[in-house]
Amino acid sequence: MSNAKPDDRPLFTYTIGGVKIEMPVRPYPSQVSMMDKVIRGCQRQQNCLLESPTGSGKTLALLCSALAWQKAEKARLEKLSEEDFQQSLIEWQQKEQQKKLKEKKQKKPNTPEKKLAETNISPTKNKGSCVSTVITISDDSEEEMAVFKQPGKKRKINNSRDLDVSNGKSMSNDESIMTNDSSANNSLMTEDEDEKIEPQIETNMPKKSRPVIPVIYFCTRTHKQIEQVIKELQRTSFNTAKSCVLASREHTCIQDSNIYYPQISYKSKTELCRDLLDPKARRRNSIKFRRTIDRCSYYDNGGVKISTYGQLAKFGVESVWDIEDIVRLGISKKSCPYYGTRLLLKTAEIVFCPYNYIIDPVIRNTMNLKLKGHVIIVDEAHNIEDQCREAASLQLDQTNMNLAKADCEKVYKSCSNSLSYSRLARYLSELSKWIDQKSNDIKTYDDYNRGVVSWTGTYTIASFDDFGIGLTAFEKFKKDCETVLADSAEESEPDDTKMDTKDNGENELVEKEDSDLVEKDEDETLENRSSQDNVDAAITNATKTLLSSICSVFSLLYDEKYKFDYHVSLEKIMELKKYEHKDRNMKTTGIGGWINAAAQPDDSRPVWKNVISFLCLNPAAVFGELKSTARTIILTSGTLSPMQSFQSELGTQFPIALEAGHVIKPDQCWVSSVSVGPDGTDLNGQYRNINTYNYQDEMGKVLWDVCAAVPHGVLCFMPSYMLMEKLYSRWQVTGQLNRLKQIKVVMCEPRRGDQLEELMTKYYAAVRGDEKGPSGALFLAVYRGKISEGLDFSDNNARAVVAVGIPFPNYKDAAVTHKKDYNDKHHKNKGLLPGWEWYQIQAYRALNQALGRCIRHRNDWGAILLVDSRYEQPKNLSGLSKWIRGRVERNNSWSTIVTKLKNFVETRQYEDSIAALT
Ligand code: SF4
Repeated sequence: MSNAKPDDRPLFTYTIGGVKIEMPVRPYPSQVSMMDKVIRGCQRQQNCLLESPTGSGKTLALLCSALAWQKAEKARLEKLSEEDFQQSLIEWQQKEQQKKLKEKKQKKPNTPEKKLAETNISPTKNKGSCVSTVITISDDSEEEMAVFKQPGKKRKINNSRDLDVSNGKSMSNDESIMTNDSSANNSLMTEDEDEKIEPQIETNMPKKSRPVIPVIYFCTRTHKQIEQVIKELQRTSFNTAKSCVLASREHTCIQDSNIYYPQISYKSKTELCRDLLDPKARRRNSIKFRRTIDRCSYYDNGGVKISTYGQLAKFGVESVWDIEDIVRLGISKKSCPYYGTRLLLKTAEIVFCPYNYIIDPVIRNTMNLKLKGHVIIVDEAHNIEDQCREAASLQLDQTNMNLAKADCEKVYKSCSNSLSYSRLARYLSELSKWIDQKSNDIKTYDDYNRGVVSWTGTYTIASFDDFGIGLTAFEKFKKDCETVLADSAEESEPDDTKMDTKDNGENELVEKEDSDLVEKDEDETLENRSSQDNVDAAITNATKTLLSSICSVFSLLYDEKYKFDYHVSLEKIMELKKYEHKDRNMKTTGIGGWINAAAQPDDSRPVWKNVISFLCLNPAAVFGELKSTARTIILTSGTLSPMQSFQSELGTQFPIALEAGHVIKPDQCWVSSVSVGPDGTDLNGQYRNINTYNYQDEMGKVLWDVCAAVPHGVLCFMPSYMLMEKLYSRWQVTGQLNRLKQIKVVMCEPRRGDQLEELMTKYYAAVRGDEKGPSGALFLAVYRGKISEGLDFSDNNARAVVAVGIPFPNYKDAAVTHKKDYNDKHHKNKGLLPGWEWYQIQAYRALNQALGRCIRHRNDWGAILLVDSRYEQPKNLSGLSKWIRGRVERNNSWSTIVTKLKNFVETRQYEDSIAALT
């Protein structure tokens, strides 16, 4: 369990912008610059672009500065809140006293009986009211505060994420988080007093509001990277911050499907969970398997629950935790970590999640993430433009649409009151018919029996209108989707809002509405169920995803701001379809998936398939919402350069930017451009040149020389799999491959991700020299591939990176062509970069990402060779990261390069041996 206390090492304290920052190590200048930018961004509510090379302590600087600012902001807001409260109290007291004096003057009853008659208040009540008001509130505000803090009257935060703190101040609905469950004023007095006080007196009384502190959302690409970030946080003095890691059930579910459903092999934990929490699915499965199936016991655990930070501390988790910790705790306490995490999220100070949770509107809504007023840090943000474009785009397979339609129809038929499902089915059916009609426009097909037709987004909207599925139909569809998805959420996945936390130390997962559902379901005996339709009355997860994706993307398509940002294409392709054997007794695909009702055993035949793509060309369509809600967005990466496109592409101002230098000394990285090889052949990487044998053979010789001069691991990046395979084949024919294999183990990046792990194990073993044979390894990889980010190539794993060509995106890719055209068309009215500039930036971002593999920490060293004669021109070096740009040497002959490379390696090896002795 990661319950490390702050370690005993001295803290290095810096004050930046009035904020005291504690660091566990003396910061590098680049870290100080980065912290300065983070503090400024948070204070001024401005967005930042911060590039700092890998190994320069970027994560530590981000965490320490953001959390230090949060701490300072908390103190500031609490002080403001206290001052506001005291001021309100004084004003209220003065008003009350004036009121009472006035009342006294106006009403002077002659007798006690007359006084009572006029006020219509019983003597007892009146007495209590006066005592409470005069003594507790008017005379002594400290006393009032003491009453405020009475035990047993704790306040509850309903959902602090709902509150607006965009101006750094709590909004009017702050009151909602201050109220006790039963009454806004319960917290001010004891139960006895509560009975005695008149309601009208209570409502006037000023209430002390708890300020809403901005939460830090720290997002990165993968859970593996989140694990690393949490390790960094554990080293700091903020290691007891209330942290929360968001993850899917795949990472956090502790249920074993074999216990409940040994007969079903679930594709995902999500399906398992939804079946176990959905009363209808349990009933259906109970009938199917002829035994009673209960709700997941980890969800219902009656004793111990993971739900508050106080509870975590009691369980021994006092510091920031990662997924492994919470899963281990869940297993030991028999409590669901997935739902526990979602409860912890409500009061977390720092939240970690993969960045698609924040970027993708569908996931964001599913997770119910409200980002208003909070700080979002996106690490590894170099691909954020692509991620946003993807999140706003949609690819619809007509077959899946038809299956979703059938799914909705099935539910409609089984539930008499579910007209929404009927209307959804009709909309999907009409959309499918529209696709059929449009596919008739495809007149020409290529050699693979593939035809394509495409239109603009605005033409598509007009065509929808003509077909009778225009905006009005979509708005109805959207409304029905919301109803159905909300219904489904209630049926199948208990909503967080139905769970409550109690403050008595024994927090429990309470889902009243869901419990009611369960009782109702389970009160009915299984034998009473005669209709299979009734028990199947729920749409599948696949249908839900399809419906919510259509809603999300079509909403943008119909948005006046974004309707010109879409390119729609319809692809018709013939494929050989092999149908699954359909056996009624083995209808296992019914859970979470679709069943093709027309399937016949061993049926295989050619079918036409239609796929329609709604390609969003403007990442601002998705990023715009983040921009308008978050307080500050910080995009950061080791390789953000070139930075020009972020502002225009994301439609967001980034007034604060930083290109930090590297922390390594100048002699730790040697960089040279390479224009010619050993035979003097021009190594221009343009398409027409790379297809010549001269180029291909020369590249083989260049790599042989590099591998002979550099020990251990060498990485070589190429612009495409096609070129990599072409070179490999050529070297096989010429014998160059064998020559390479005599000095290094040679391996190629696989196209399929599942083969990579095994290959990496072999690579690391070869670099270590575990096996007999050549010492070290050469990894041939592609830019933008799996090798170019996320894997460990520190120290000996990459002593040289050979960058072949300039990795421009594939100009034949329709998405690239449309994006270039779109930028050309809109670069004036939307302030976008012209298409060609955008295209170049994509190339350099991929190049910088690959080059970043070379140096991974302060003591690392390595050589970088930029193999392309186009680097002779200074303009072609301007897109490189700042720390590389300034190091590039131009050497005219290959022999000079090899000599310098050998000298560099020998010097570094000598330095290493000296360092090892000291
Ligand atoms: S409630 Fe939790 S433990 Fe149970 S199936 Fe769902 S995710 Fe898994």
